[in-house]
Amino acid sequence: MARTPITVAFGDGIGPEIMSATLTMIEAAGAQLEMETIEIGQKLYEAGYPSGIDERAWESLHRTRVFLKAPITTPQGGGYKSLNVTIRKALGLYANIRPAVAYHPVIETLHPGMDIVIIRENEEDLYAGIEYRQSIDQYEAIKLATHPGSERIVRFAFEYAQAYGRKKVTCFTKDNILKMTDGLFHRLFEEVAAEYPAIQKEHWIVDIGSAKLAFRPQEFDVVVIPNLYGDILSDIMAQLAGSVGLAGSANIGASYAMFEAVHGSAPRRAGQDVANPSGLFLAAVQMLVYLGQTEAAERAHNAWLRTLEEGIHTRDIFREGKSRKLVGTQEFAREVARRMGQEPQSLLRPVRYPQGVPRPRADFPYLRKEQPKELVGIDLFLENSPTSPESLAERLQSLAGPELSLQCVANRGLVVWPTRQTQALRVDNYQARFLWRASCGTPPTQEKGLELARKCMEAGLGIVRVQWLYRYGNEPGYSQLQGE
Ligand code: NAD
Repeated sequence: MARTPITVAFGDGIGPEIMSATLTMIEAAGAQLEMETIEIGQKLYEAGYPSGIDERAWESLHRTRVFLKAPITTPQGGGYKSLNVTIRKALGLYANIRPAVAYHPVIETLHPGMDIVIIRENEEDLYAGIEYRQSIDQYEAIKLATHPGSERIVRFAFEYAQAYGRKKVTCFTKDNILKMTDGLFHRLFEEVAAEYPAIQKEHWIVDIGSAKLAFRPQEFDVVVIPNLYGDILSDIMAQLAGSVGLAGSANIGASYAMFEAVHGSAPRRAGQDVANPSGLFLAAVQMLVYLGQTEAAERAHNAWLRTLEEGIHTRDIFREGKSRKLVGTQEFAREVARRMGQEPQSLLRPVRYPQGVPRPRADFPYLRKEQPKELVGIDLFLENSPTSPESLAERLQSLAGPELSLQCVANRGLVVWPTRQTQALRVDNYQARFLWRASCGTPPTQEKGLELARKCMEAGLGIVRVQWLYRYGNEPGYSQLQGE
């Protein structure tokens, strides 16, 4: 078999130790890899690269398109950007795949039957990182959801389920509150699910769904989930499986892929040969499957399961009376390498990676559908000392021409005019919603909206943001305010 070129980074903290152990194990399994090593992380940050990566590393990644990465240490303080987020975005790694598997009875877990895969959207949502300070009192982050971004992660989840013979895909959102962003994710989930009738589908509101997942994970199979919820939930599930040291993850895009442990660089354990290399190792197994080296993946995975089954454990999972031998990072790798060709026999089940199974598709074409769009109003966000809403509304009404009618004024998303008294906190940032009067006889224009914004500015009402309100077909392109 020809060797596949990959890029490898040994990372920081425990990174070099767990990477060399991982390479020992997968090479013993017969992985056919041509490795290019790059330096990323702490040294690069210190050398003045704000994202911890230099041109040489990018060249290698663009050449091989497959990255096996050990954890790195992110320096504290401002001015540094997350290397992981930078790489995910630059390489379009939109799908984060995190299996959470119980190794009962070998490793203590509350959930012996757990065998789930969390597929987390990796690029959008609050992780788009668009944040503003809008006034003295108010800060904002934008939760970004796009049609192609949501559709492809949902499609990927069904393709994944199909490729790996999984039975069910569950979607988690909070679309009872976030009707537009999470609503889009949920709607596309339902539409895409209809194209995969052989796979069961279900949707849960993320709060109660997460509670159910943490309580009875054995009732779940594949979970597809927006970025932030997925980040939190997948760490919880990794911990429930027994140890964060056991969880590996894949980041997949249309033409690149990155494989890494879920945990970080654990600096306090560095250099002591105590870290568990299993998280990075299981990520590397996922990489072998991705590369079509399924025989090596299966050999490696089963030898690892056999080693666990025989009670040969690193410190994080070692239990007096249950485990048989306490080993360091490198010795654990050698014990696994020695067991190549063996499978677990009594306590754990062997894994099977059938030959020739196509990997799940990740390159989905997106057909953008044009839609009629009509301007219907404007929201003006104003920085204003917390005056009485009535007096603010009065001033705004006097500034609006005959075309625009003031519908309401809101503070922190809650309507404060016209309304009854509320006990809710009021801050220095108001949202004034103006809608076009159908009776005025002139069609809505952005010029009229800007004219109003200018008048407000001249009257000393600090404009923070101008937001156009559109209808798309029959649907408003903006949410109703609470109490509107
Ligand atoms: P961490 O995951 O490094 O450690 C959390 C806890 O888990 C610690 O108690 C640690 O000792 C333990 N642990 C982690 N991996 C282990 C292993 N393989 N075997 C045994 N025990 C293990 O998280 P942290 O302490 O919050 O972060 C440390 C550094 O790692 C930070 O600089 C952070 O920015 C970075 N980090 C990097 C990545 C990455 O590169 N993908 C991910 C998360 C955190």
